Amino acid sequence: MRSYKAKSVTSIQLPPRERRETVLTEAGHNVFNLAADDVFIDLLTDSGTGAMSDDQWAAVVRGDEAYAGSRSFKRFRETVADVMGFDRVVPTHQGRGAENVLFGALLDDGDVVLNNTHFDTTRAHVTNQGAIAADCPAETDLTTDTVGTFAGNFSTDRGWDAVEEHGQDAVSAVVLTITNNSAAGQPVSMANIRETAAFATEIDATFVIDACRFAENAQFIKQRDPEYADTPLSEIAREQLRPADAITMSGKKDALANIGGFTAVRDAALFEQCKQRAILYEGFPTYGGLAGRDLEAMATGLREAVQPPYVAERIEQVATLGDLLRDRDIPIVTPTGGHAVYIDAAALFPDIPADQYPGQRLVCELYREGGVRTVELGSFAFPGTNRPELVRLALPRRTYWHEHLEHIAETAARVRDRRDEYSGLEIVWEPPMEELRHFSAELEPVA
Ligand SMILES: *Cc1c(COP(=O)(O)O)cnc(C)c1O
Repeated sequence: MRSYKAKSVTSIQLPPRERRETVLTEAGHNVFNLAADDVFIDLLTDSGTGAMSDDQWAAVVRGDEAYAGSRSFKRFRETVADVMGFDRVVPTHQGRGAENVLFGALLDDGDVVLNNTHFDTTRAHVTNQGAIAADCPAETDLTTDTVGTFAGNFSTDRGWDAVEEHGQDAVSAVVLTITNNSAAGQPVSMANIRETAAFATEIDATFVIDACRFAENAQFIKQRDPEYADTPLSEIAREQLRPADAITMSGKKDALANIGGFTAVRDAALFEQCKQRAILYEGFPTYGGLAGRDLEAMATGLREAVQPPYVAERIEQVATLGDLLRDRDIPIVTPTGGHAVYIDAAALFPDIPADQYPGQRLVCELYREGGVRTVELGSFAFPGTNRPELVRLALPRRTYWHEHLEHIAETAARVRDRRDEYSGLEIVWEPPMEELRHFSAELEPVA
């Protein structure tokens, strides 16, 4: 049962099949090139696509647009202190802005950053500072078998291997991404957070938490770690961030806003450096590239994110979509993570080889069959990496109903029924930067 009801709605419609066929071809079999109006159910991302509450909209109207020292910034700062336990916060236009501000202040050329798994923009910002991004995931085989209770964990064994390889002085930051977005949104345990913090201390590195989905991670800890079964969610949320020297945050995730982000730090000198970088790249440090109203939306959203039952319902909705797909024999990563269901396209289309992008074929067919937009996160998005051929179905927050989930599952079942009809795809045009190709490359079916 949802603990909220609709007050304002937006209409969506399934375009006729003929239209879907035409626009898919025109889009070069790349759903990033589709107009949103041609999409019925949009599972491309959960980033900034959720529904704001009436309290958030009310706060938007109260936004104070003063350039410096606005009332909205004060409220935002107090909320971050309350909900996340950090007093020194620098707002930014979104999560990657926070990464640019913090990593620019922390990293030097040739430094090494360890992470359970770097999210794309995190990796790009680490690399952009001339540093090396190394992943140390505890779980590396994220396919359809059950991946375990806290499959997003950091492996300190791998961390020590990296220290040996690069030298302790080079490793200047250890990052923990909670939940682990690039590892199918799997959670990180409280014990692993502490262990990773101790590891960072031991090697004298700054311990950073990428807190984008901190509320979802807290809920998993509450559900899966008996020690926290009776602890209020808001306390778990704060406690998991306590060991961190700094956090980066995208307001488009667990601040339930459509735009925004921030970094927050403990150290006064680091705070000063971050503020100076913010002035250069984002804006004066009391607005950071945002309007006062955006700060208000984030402040209200942050509190809602750790208020039961919101996040329990969210995780439950993702699990329900997973169950509906599994009931129809669609191979998915289990248990489902916090924000998305991942389909194993290689298992669904065993006859399509990896170099013909089975995941992208699945993305195309989910759109063609049911107007459902998803994203490939396999060989097409990550060339030359040997990743599993996963397709992500990300659920926007507080946005879709159970009937929509049923439509998604029925669409996937129809695609499965026709799987013998599909060939692979080949790229016919791609942009110069291979890392960014899945956003704009064009493909055609292999003859
Ligand atoms: C979305 C995301 C980011 C980047 O945030 P943006 O607001 O998209 O710039 C960083 N890390 C993780 C884990 C994310 O999910």
